Amino acid sequence: MSNPGQGSQGVAAPSAGPGWEYAAAPESREIATIAPAYGLFIGGEFVPAQDGRRFTTINPASEQPLSEIAAAGPADVDRAVRSARGAFDRVWGRMPGRERAKYLYRIARILQERAREFAVLESLDNGKPIRESRDVDVPLAAAHFFYHAGWADKLEYAGFGPSPRPLGVAGQVIPWNFPLLMAAWKLAPALAAGNTCVLKPAETTPLTALLLAEVCQQAGLPPGVVNVVTGAGDTGAALVAHPGVNKVAFTGSTEVGKQILRTVAGTGKKLTLELGGKAANVVFDDAPLDQAIEGIVTGIFFNQGHVCCAGSRLLVQESVADMVTERLKRRIGMLRLGDPLDKNTDIGAINSRQQLDKIRELSSAGDAEGAQRWSPPCELPDKGYWFPPTVFTGVSQSHRIAREEIFGPVLSLLTFRTPEEAVTKANNTPYGLSAGVWTEKGSRILWMAQRLRAGVVWANTYNRFDPASPFGGYRESGFGREGGRHGLEAYLSP
Ligand code: NAD
Repeated sequence: MSNPGQGSQGVAAPSAGPGWEYAAAPESREIATIAPAYGLFIGGEFVPAQDGRRFTTINPASEQPLSEIAAAGPADVDRAVRSARGAFDRVWGRMPGRERAKYLYRIARILQERAREFAVLESLDNGKPIRESRDVDVPLAAAHFFYHAGWADKLEYAGFGPSPRPLGVAGQVIPWNFPLLMAAWKLAPALAAGNTCVLKPAETTPLTALLLAEVCQQAGLPPGVVNVVTGAGDTGAALVAHPGVNKVAFTGSTEVGKQILRTVAGTGKKLTLELGGKAANVVFDDAPLDQAIEGIVTGIFFNQGHVCCAGSRLLVQESVADMVTERLKRRIGMLRLGDPLDKNTDIGAINSRQQLDKIRELSSAGDAEGAQRWSPPCELPDKGYWFPPTVFTGVSQSHRIAREEIFGPVLSLLTFRTPEEAVTKANNTPYGLSAGVWTEKGSRILWMAQRLRAGVVWANTYNRFDPASPFGGYRESGFGREGGRHGLEAYLSP
């Protein structure tokens, strides 16, 4: 097995440098091993970029460097796609599904065995609270591999014809908000269906995708079946445009999604786009309010609000709006912001300076347009990227904070009087990824779910995910589904 790190054995996380001590408690350093530099994962080996370019990935909670990462140029992308093509033609595309399943089960089990390592690494690189990476990201990533392992030998019963075939090489580009989980969402169905993959993680969070590459080695996955090319947008663009790619799967912003749509148009490549959102979380006056308050908090503050389906527009029925606002503020006042590696932390660091600037800019627009900003008394650490949990009241539909995706811990509160008005306001967005409904009445849930233009509608809960359940959007939130039987369709031809 080749060493994932370059230059030396995978060593303990750097211990020198101010800020590190804060960012990684001593026991965490023993759990996650970070090499000083990482290569690209191509053909089952870690290799340097051909032109030797690198970038630094940092810990957003301390701004300390974590590691140097190879930046793949077009020649590297070409090499990765060729490697994936070779593996598809020689091994993976011909392998019986029951054999492919064994590898997926193996990867799932190794993910479980190395769960603590993955969780710590994810929190270090992304800034998310360890409680979330430990209890959500990593278990769900393993669950995706388990679930799709189960499909690998049953594809002829999935409803896509008697002998569905894989497409070939999948080029997959993912964002930074759930780095490991998004990698699992992409790789597991593609591999189960018999495709080989070239994955491009986000430039601010490459580490868990590289550890997943190491897991592929550990599982004995044939070389070239999974390749990981790290780099920024230009690396992603080179992958998407590569003529050897048969299927493009993208999760990220609507803006980049539109560029990809233009690149892929007319090429015959199959495409799925999982893009942004501006979800409405609708609370009726008969809702179980204690539960609803928890659901509102989870809906917008989970993962610092870096969630495509975040319930960032709260629609509250006017008769309970004051009460909900007051109780919500009391609850938000109890949230703990700080060290992502502290198990008691509720809100971690914002993933990058760029994202923090975007959140600040949109919040300032909220002030300028006349909404009222509220945050609890909250001391922010001196180093790193932080934004306090924030609620805007007095928001009108025309405000930018009610229309644009903030992708941060910022909630815009609007009110409504009737269910019809709730639906009109909820659907007043170019997006259509998710929505929430809080009410005691089952009939009202169904009535709302039929009218809300969103790919996922949660009732009396929020942000629930399951590998068996398809996830995806309408309109500017993209097209195609990930997860469940529907997610497999994107990787098969009849
Ligand atoms: P982004 O679009 O800036 O980047 C996403 C990925 O695309 C990164 O790996 C980036 O390097 C790459 N990229 C950038 N430019 C590219 C180009 N021209 N061609 C190909 N690849 C390119 O998005 P982000 O800021 O990393 O992620 C946040 C966005 O992702 C939000 O809008 C969020 O809603 C969305 N998102 C959607 C889902 C979903 O399932 N719908 C899930 C998570 C995140």
